[in-house]
Amino acid sequence: MDDLSFGKRNKRGDWAPNEPASIAPIWDAPPQPMKILKWLPHYFAPYDIIWILSALAWWHWVLPDVETMKTLQWGWILKLLVFNTIAVFAFFGIYEWRLYISRAQGNRFKYNGKWPSENKSDVFWFKSQNIDGMLRTLFHAMPIWLALEVGILYAYANGYVPWVSFAEHPYYLVVLMLLMPIIHETHFYLIHRLIHIPFLYKHVHSIHHNSVNPSPYSSLSMHPVELVLYLGMALWHLVIPSNPILALYQLHRAGFGAIPGHIGFDKIEVGETGGIPTHAYIHYLHHKYFEVNYGDGLVPFDKWFGTFHDGSKEGEAQMDARFAKKRAKMNATPAE
Ligand SMILES: [Zn+2]
Ligand SMILES: [Zn+2]
Repeated sequence: MDDLSFGKRNKRGDWAPNEPASIAPIWDAPPQPMKILKWLPHYFAPYDIIWILSALAWWHWVLPDVETMKTLQWGWILKLLVFNTIAVFAFFGIYEWRLYISRAQGNRFKYNGKWPSENKSDVFWFKSQNIDGMLRTLFHAMPIWLALEVGILYAYANGYVPWVSFAEHPYYLVVLMLLMPIIHETHFYLIHRLIHIPFLYKHVHSIHHNSVNPSPYSSLSMHPVELVLYLGMALWHLVIPSNPILALYQLHRAGFGAIPGHIGFDKIEVGETGGIPTHAYIHYLHHKYFEVNYGDGLVPFDKWFGTFHDGSKEGEAQMDARFAKKRAKMNATPAE
């Protein structure tokens, strides 16, 4: 597929789409019904359908019966850890293998002209973005993911929180399910703004930002504090009356679902002419410029607060003007 009919490549080899990144069209004013209709399937497809199915699969095949989950026993907890770990490494690994190891589509649709493996850096463990990401996923993300998951299931099994059943309140649960991407976006935006506060950025979030040119295993390459805040979005299902399967879906959406923003490619080519959009551009720009696009555009927080960058020249000029204003303000502050 010719990526230059969809975008352009600069002298450094960085590719950018012709179409600027956009927020969800439900927020357009005046409303554009056709655009909304075209976009609507993307609200759940393809990713959310995978997380819903994975949550159901875990509930039926990985987790024990509710009686067993009333007590914290190593058997079911270790089984859960093994399944989560294999699933994450297999899932992220498919992208890593196809796009970065076998380089099945070369640099077509690749935002950054460089390959992370060719840019060794001291900021990473073993100087490798990939090894660093894999180890942090294994030793930080998986145990924290497990602890949150076990805590949530234990609370439901013991009746510490209300368990709303699909049989009794199907409409309520469907509405809650429809709102879950918005819960994710809002939670993510808020904690992301929080960890960009200079002190927290320096000690916590800078680890995730070491990946200026993110690749699949950058997805959960985070400081433990960030992982607790980020994966902790599943804890909303202990606060809002919900169901453990929806809590699992929210957790899978955060954990497995961290990958779309870190694929590094705009499209994954399928066959000669097909391509799956990755929706990675907004978050790629965040990794590139740091102080733009704290959210992913489902709710236009960045538009409302003036931090949105759509990847276009105009977006760049707006960002530069904002940074210049910030610098001027800092320089004008009298020394104490
Ligand atoms: Zn990221
Ligand atoms: Zn950030």
